[in-house]
Amino acid sequence: MLIRLLSFALFQGVGALLAATFMHVFAPSHGGVVVSSLVGALGATYFWLLWDLSRGLRVMRWLRSEETREVAVESGLWGEFSNRIRRVLRNNERAVQQRDERLQEFLAAMQASPNGVVLLDREFRIEWLNESAELHFGLDARRDLQQHFANLVRDPSFAAYFSAKDFEKDVLMPGRASTASLPVRLSVHVHPYGDGRSLLLSRDVTAVEQAEAMRRDFVANVSHEIRTPLTVLGGFVETLQTLSLNDAERARYLDLMAQQASRMQSLVSDLLTLSRLEGSPLPSAHEWVDVSFLVDQCRQEAGELSRVLWGQTHSLCFEIQSGLSLAGSAVELHSAFFNLIGNAVRYTPAGKSIRVVARAMDDGGALFAVHDQGMGIAQEHIPRLTERFYRVDRSRSRDTGGTGLGLAIVKHVVQRHGAELSIASVPGEGSNFQILFPPHRVQFLPEPAPAEAIAA
Ligand code: ADP
Repeated sequence: MLIRLLSFALFQGVGALLAATFMHVFAPSHGGVVVSSLVGALGATYFWLLWDLSRGLRVMRWLRSEETREVAVESGLWGEFSNRIRRVLRNNERAVQQRDERLQEFLAAMQASPNGVVLLDREFRIEWLNESAELHFGLDARRDLQQHFANLVRDPSFAAYFSAKDFEKDVLMPGRASTASLPVRLSVHVHPYGDGRSLLLSRDVTAVEQAEAMRRDFVANVSHEIRTPLTVLGGFVETLQTLSLNDAERARYLDLMAQQASRMQSLVSDLLTLSRLEGSPLPSAHEWVDVSFLVDQCRQEAGELSRVLWGQTHSLCFEIQSGLSLAGSAVELHSAFFNLIGNAVRYTPAGKSIRVVARAMDDGGALFAVHDQGMGIAQEHIPRLTERFYRVDRSRSRDTGGTGLGLAIVKHVVQRHGAELSIASVPGEGSNFQILFPPHRVQFLPEPAPAEAIAA
């Protein structure tokens, strides 16, 4: 400011001095010199004001332009003024940029959400929505902005929820991609916030609903399976209590009661096996189980089962390659192998043959297979055989102590060992159940050939 005043005074002084000197040289008189110095000072004042105004106008033009990086005037009051404005503008720009970056990060986080997010204005028009919401409701983030949400999503249950304006709870509705064979269920919840705006969240609950339906079915099945032998047991107990029976009759009833009790025992034992399989960590990939030893155990149990069920044994043929080991749980593998062998025994009439094969494959994997010449299974049942409590021949299954959980256990064990189960069957001819183990779970150390063979 001081410089500005000094420059103004200097301009006036120089103007007055120049005018006085001019007067003194060309028309020297005392009065003329005084008047001319006043006129000179006035002229210099106008000149200074014009010069100052032009600097001010340059600053104004600079402010109006978009480009404010280079200041229009470097020095003086206008220079200082420009510099300060430029600093304020730069700070503002930086703040806006930071806010913009934060907003973009925030939107990216909402975009990454597996749930649908829709921001609605006071009139429930779409302000923003993420990709999941586009997918859930079949919307387009560019095309549908500013559209009324209820005009685009016309499901009756959602329309009722939306018009009731009771947003305490969520509403369930089918997703846009839902079809009869592949249903998609959405949970949609509107959360009012701020000044009349709303946040709409959608969540795909198809898997949760399916799990809930499966849980309900499972509980109903288990109850049914347990209720049947319990009812039979109750009937026998009543008979024993009310009728006077001779020893032979009593023994027969007790025998039938023992059968029902053992049926319940098998069911509980299979249920426990399944729950253990679901709840325990994956089987080790470093504990090696000798397949010959495992199948030998199954061979004895199969012979016993065959005698108990059919009164005579089947022709059981075991082709087990020695030196074959599998990485995993011995208990689980035994359970899977015996379930398949046991099924073959139970569903194959006595006298027919059952063949069990375990061998290494060329690709480094291993095969375990059970072939039988039993009743076979019609093609339409095969995809459902591993479902819990799914039975083709209900009475045969019950009569032979089946629980309907055997193949579900096999499927679990197979999956846990990274293996694959395949089933082929021809009704009336027999069935073939195969498990293919991946190479990383297989160790094959062929036994050395006998000394004479090497000599030969
Ligand atoms: P279950 O305890 O009833 O045998 P599984 O889960 O082991 O239950 O088998 C499911 C159904 O598959 C059985 O009820 C039976 O109808 C059919 N099944 C399984 N293995 C065989 C087989 N080797 N031959 C014919 N049918 C079979």
